[in-house]
Amino acid sequence: MSLIVQKFGGTSVADAQRVMNVAKIVTDTFAKGNDVVVVVSAQGDFTDVLEEKAKEINPNASRREKDMLLSAGEQISISLLAMAIEKLGYHAVSLLGWQAGFETSSSHTSARIRKIDPSRIKSALDKKNIVIVAGFQGLSRYGDITTLGRGGSDTSAVAIAAAMHADLCQIYTDVEGVFTADPRKVKGAYKLDEISYDEMLELATLGAQVLNNRSVEMAKKYNIELEVLSSLTRAPGTIVKEKTKMEKMLISGVAKDTDVARISVMGVPNNPGLAFKMFSKLSKKDINVDIILQSIGHDGKKDISFTVAKSRGQEAVDALKDYMDSLGAKEVLYDDNVAKISIVGAGMESHAGVATKMFEALYDAQINIQMISTSEIKVSVLIDARDADKAVEAIHDKFFD
Ligand code: ASP
Ligand code: MG
Repeated sequence: MSLIVQKFGGTSVADAQRVMNVAKIVTDTFAKGNDVVVVVSAQGDFTDVLEEKAKEINPNASRREKDMLLSAGEQISISLLAMAIEKLGYHAVSLLGWQAGFETSSSHTSARIRKIDPSRIKSALDKKNIVIVAGFQGLSRYGDITTLGRGGSDTSAVAIAAAMHADLCQIYTDVEGVFTADPRKVKGAYKLDEISYDEMLELATLGAQVLNNRSVEMAKKYNIELEVLSSLTRAPGTIVKEKTKMEKMLISGVAKDTDVARISVMGVPNNPGLAFKMFSKLSKKDINVDIILQSIGHDGKKDISFTVAKSRGQEAVDALKDYMDSLGAKEVLYDDNVAKISIVGAGMESHAGVATKMFEALYDAQINIQMISTSEIKVSVLIDARDADKAVEAIHDKFFD
């Protein structure tokens, strides 16, 4: 007998029929003799609906009250799923985060899981129940309901799997797994059988929306094997684990991120400490900087360009403009019609020429590169947003055809 954690996202439980479909998957797993703990998200886009309701009444509502509201979506889906399972003739118990033993930090709307006390889950399993846990939520040490940040129920599932030493953690979603590129956009994109934690982490951070990146970090830390699969087709999905046997593959995916803006600070003095001063203005405001490019100095001046998330772009520009004089800068330029295209692959560590191949694909498609950044298993380029889809396609063709 195994302990299996199964997580279902919003689309998997969007309506009555989908909830019944999930009940079928869960009870099939249970009927094979497994203990099953199920983690669910709110139905469909219900969490967005709740966010809207809050904004309508008070856009500046406290984060404590936002958590109280947002956590309600999962209470609906866990109880509905329990009812669906009862209907199929099995025993089910639904538990809110606090009932399932989720202790979190008190940073409302982005709480971190501190620990899980699974005793209630365990005793319910012992009584032959299927246990259904509300994802995305927990309890702070002050006894307040917290949420883990949008998309947090993946992390809830992995945390339970880690705390209970589960044999498998399945993340059911509306796609069949992790693809080499967005299959809706790229014809030749195909599903990977396996991917390593590190590659998945890069892809998740780069905007491939299959898994929340904190959940992958946690899975890596506790060595929890994940399977990403579709609740609609039930076809075998993608396994996420430490080491994969796909050494022959140069890269495992091409990702596109359009939530980027480029800021250029022009004509600053070519002196020590300039980058420090500039970026400390941004880090004080908690603005994350991604790709950074600095020109070589000429006539005692240099230019520094970098990217930030679009949502923080204006704020970053304003912060820098306030300091233009003390930085000695000539002007601050802003462009949010850009996209970041990245290739990810553990194969890069042992193969030369991977980046060159990517640049060649872009050259063939006559796409200009504005900025480049690399890590051990990733190459990212910043290009004009209009070229984004064409670039992904060209790069994908180059590596996978
Ligand atoms: N329902 C929450 C959200 O939409 C949590 C989740 O889906 O993982 O963000
Ligand atoms: Mg959701």
